[in-house]
Amino acid sequence: MQIIRVGHVGGRIPLPGPPEFGAGPPAYLRTFPVRPLPVYGMSLAALSAPGVRRVVAVGVASVILFAGVWSEPPPRLVDRPLADYYARALAAESEGEPHKALAMLNLLLIPEETYVAVDYSALPENERARFRRGVALAFEMWGEALGDDFPFRLVAEDPDAQVQLRFLDDIKNGSADCKGEIRSKRRIQWNHEVHYSEFTAEIDVSKFGRGGKFLGEGDVTHIVAHELGHALGLGDASARDRIMGAVAIGNPYGKLHASEVEAVKAFRQLIRAQINRISSDIRLAEPSGLVPDTAG
Ligand SMILES: [Zn+2]
Repeated sequence: MQIIRVGHVGGRIPLPGPPEFGAGPPAYLRTFPVRPLPVYGMSLAALSAPGVRRVVAVGVASVILFAGVWSEPPPRLVDRPLADYYARALAAESEGEPHKALAMLNLLLIPEETYVAVDYSALPENERARFRRGVALAFEMWGEALGDDFPFRLVAEDPDAQVQLRFLDDIKNGSADCKGEIRSKRRIQWNHEVHYSEFTAEIDVSKFGRGGKFLGEGDVTHIVAHELGHALGLGDASARDRIMGAVAIGNPYGKLHASEVEAVKAFRQLIRAQINRISSDIRLAEPSGLVPDTAG
């Protein structure tokens, strides 16, 4: 599928009419190892704020139809809140809101080139290189597994990056065992002709393992890859030989299990198939497919 970037909200493509809003999508918060907490709803104000950038709209790009995709459930390893979100997206389409459905599905894929900025400033200088390698390895693992389909880009410190990763003495509101946390926000805006979506997240990673000792490189890799796994749709696992399992400090698994990679790939394929199908339906209903330019 091809994703067409059409620019920033507030740029050349204004909403053609008063936006219509439904109830906000459930963003979700996962704590490592297991601490689900609902946190967020949708905010129009945040979407329209000048500071919000890299908001993209998804163009209608494919006419491929996938028979039977309608009823196929998400893979078993997909986290419950995201499986629910997927179901709600399909429900939105059934209720006559295909653009809402597309905005939601797009967020399940994570917009292409979602930037992840890492702030190492809270670490002592002599620890930073090791943490840096640990973080880089986590991104490399997922990057190798998903290839071009890996949506995240690790960047140097950048306050505008959609995802901010930082290191803390301990995870706020977490137990002593909690070594990482991702808080994701999924915002959508839509009407009968266009839709916008925005994904942002904060990833907190503990500095310390046990007894006030700094985490090792492999520990950092496991924790960061675990949180990325959540962002990509995976739920927590009980097995130790899974990236979505708990981290054994000092002896981390630190690898992606084939079943985890397969689940992410299958989920993304399923979402793409739905996007293609719904986009085709919209095209058939509205042959022009053009957004009127009402700027100026
Ligand atoms: Zn987790």
